[in-house]
Amino acid sequence: MRPISYSRAGDIAGAIATVSSDPTSDFLAGGTTEIDLLRQNVLLPRRLVDINDLPLTQIEDRPDGGLYIGALARMSDVAEAPMVRERFPMMAQALVLGASAQLRNMASMGGNMMQRTRCGYFRDGVSPCNKREPASGCSALDGFNRGHAVLGVSDHCIATHPSDVAVPLMALDARIHTEGPRGRRVYAIDDFFLQPGDTPHLEHPIEHGELVVGIEVPGMAPARTSMYLKVRDRESYEFALTSVAAVVPMADGVIGDVRLALGGVATKPWRARRAEEVLRGAPADRETFARAAREELAPARTTRLNAFKAELAQRTMVRVLETITATGSPS
Ligand SMILES: Cc1cc2nc3c(=O)[nH]c(=O)nc-3n(C[C@H](O)[C@H](O)[C@H](O)COP(=O)(O)OP(=O)(O)OC[C@H]3O[C@@H](n4cnc5c(N)ncnc54)[C@H](O)[C@@H]3O)c2cc1C
Ligand code: SF4
Repeated sequence: MRPISYSRAGDIAGAIATVSSDPTSDFLAGGTTEIDLLRQNVLLPRRLVDINDLPLTQIEDRPDGGLYIGALARMSDVAEAPMVRERFPMMAQALVLGASAQLRNMASMGGNMMQRTRCGYFRDGVSPCNKREPASGCSALDGFNRGHAVLGVSDHCIATHPSDVAVPLMALDARIHTEGPRGRRVYAIDDFFLQPGDTPHLEHPIEHGELVVGIEVPGMAPARTSMYLKVRDRESYEFALTSVAAVVPMADGVIGDVRLALGGVATKPWRARRAEEVLRGAPADRETFARAAREELAPARTTRLNAFKAELAQRTMVRVLETITATGSPS
């Protein structure tokens, strides 16, 4: 048995000071990732600093029509908030399609941004895994990799990023606010998630003891008819094989400043910039949608088991684009 000390932080500065001064300590929010991985000996903290008493549960309006969501707002509260449902429906849809009702009641938005991959080799605690133990190898490269990523992969790691809500946040150019030993920082969400490269153990640019305090979602009027579609092996309680978040403003049948992001197929929440480039200023028709989807998946690096994902992602993109340009977001 490993002894673990537990304390409840009373304020933000205290939480940061405690964790940053002890490399063997972790923040504890809802615990739905942390406790799982601790039980499986994947994470080995000697100290847990419970942050649930910190005043970080707000869901607030911003003057630009956007939102500020505290890191400890629960997934279920954010999914139900009228301002999220009305102004950013794809966020509410992504949240409701994630995990289960019980988990969403516990899981925090900050914890969701920090959750770890579902790669079975990472989570079994013993297989060679560069993410868990740098330079030990990657068991997934020649192993069971049906659910693994096809975009943003490297020779050192092909693990899929698991978050749903990070996908619409990527499409919205959200910003992650942190506080740490060196003060307050704001990260563009694309910079907050790192591709594995040759350092797959580094998933975020933050330092030990840096606390995610909130997520800023910029106002975006066309996001009122946004849409999130998740494709998975079963209809509930399952991670995405592929998912698409989309905002598609139109004028006279021509696509405007489109925002598109993918989940389930990449090593980080994936902004589909190649597809956006094809779509911007083009007619909203099936041929354009298919061309954009093909362009996005052109750099896909697949294995025998996950090659279907490249095709599935393209079909999901086309379906979302057809649906949203025909009818707007489904309720
Ligand atoms: C069975 C199951 C199914 C799931 N399905 C889905 C799904 O379909 N879609 C999906 O998106 N997610 C899914 N999840 C993941 C779930 O959403 C995350 O576990 C959850 O969001 C993590 O939040 P938490 O508050 O419980 O974090 P914790 O478990 O407390 O923490 C997670 C990690 O983040 C760190 N951390 C927590 N808060 C902060 C902070 N504010 N600043 C810095 N570091 C922090 C912790 O130290 C820890 O390392 C599933 C989880 C389970 C167990
Ligand atoms: S894919 Fe990444 S997480 Fe999975 S075994 Fe390889 S290095 Fe580890």
